[in-house]
Amino acid sequence: MADHTTDTERIENLIILGGGPAGYTAALYAARAELEPLAIEGFQWGGQLQNTTDVENYPGYPEGVMGPEMMNQFRTQAERFGTRFITDDATEVELTDGGIHTVRVGKDEYKAKAVILSMGAEPKRLGIPGEIELGGRGVSTCGVCDGAFFKDEDVAVIGGGDSAMEDSLFVSKFAKNLKIIHRRDEFRASKIMQERARGKENIEFFTPYKPLEFVAGDDGKIAKIRLQHAENGEEKEIEVGGAFVAIGHRPRSELVKDQVELDDEGYVVVDEPSTKTKLAGVFAVGDLVDHTYRQAVTAAGSGTKGALDAEWFLRDMPPDPEEHWGTNTGAIVEAVESA
Ligand code: NAP
Repeated sequence: MADHTTDTERIENLIILGGGPAGYTAALYAARAELEPLAIEGFQWGGQLQNTTDVENYPGYPEGVMGPEMMNQFRTQAERFGTRFITDDATEVELTDGGIHTVRVGKDEYKAKAVILSMGAEPKRLGIPGEIELGGRGVSTCGVCDGAFFKDEDVAVIGGGDSAMEDSLFVSKFAKNLKIIHRRDEFRASKIMQERARGKENIEFFTPYKPLEFVAGDDGKIAKIRLQHAENGEEKEIEVGGAFVAIGHRPRSELVKDQVELDDEGYVVVDEPSTKTKLAGVFAVGDLVDHTYRQAVTAAGSGTKGALDAEWFLRDMPPDPEEHWGTNTGAIVEAVESA
């Protein structure tokens, strides 16, 4: 895909960091507001949907759509109204409180009056053999996305939190039997979610077991999980047609960790219901701020909010920066002079 590179001397209205549903939707709205946003979409643009097959729960696609195709459509729609893209990873950012922000991509430097952070989150991995190799061949990190493909199969969900319960409840509608495999006898999940899972006839709790390996069958798809009893060390194999790893998510906030406020789990803190961070002109959206919902459609909605917040912020900026920025003018004057 061709890059629409930009003049690195220019001061952008808005830089969007991240190329998933949140970032592309923010780009679409900002582009339609004639902000000419620059999206630094990442080398592996498309976010988590780039690793998803059929998406059947995004409204407007009654026949479903492949994740990468949907992301391409999001991107094309944002491009149609003037979004420019850098298909690479941002390597460094310098955010200011109401001044000009700097984003570096290797040796190239970009400056902007506003920034939307939408770097997303990634599912935590067990780090065991077969987990990556069998991704898309029976091992999934999203029950809500992939559960319907496991009709009448014996499946396992790994984890003991609300995500594992939620995934189990959803996947159990399709699967024949489902084992929740957890490394302890106690669960982090809320009581109500545990009770719901325990109330389902085809869900069995299997504890305390740690997965050691996902094993492929002759057809190259997952066939077994090798497990170890967490207390007596005894090993065991169970046969499955699918496995869901639901051990939490990790927000991709490393790039900004010392600059915006993060909560204990590394999610960017925003002034809800807005997308404002503690820095004026810096907004955060999508899975980067979302502990709970993490759906393409909720991320897209959040991207919309970010673009509107950025648009309002930019609209309210006075034409003469000195009037507004007071002691912060240094950054702007410097940036303007170097432009
Ligand atoms: P979580 O609460 O952090 O639970 C993660 C689970 O995975 C824990 O049981 C943990 O075991 C296990 N785990 C972590 N690393 C592991 C490893 N390497 N090997 C084996 N097991 C491992 O994460 P979550 O379930 O994604 O929930 C995150 C937040 O979202 C929570 O606040 C939750 O309430 C919320 N949420 C709510 C809903 C809902 O209400 N419908 C749905 C989803 C999520 P240990 O317990 O032994 O550490």
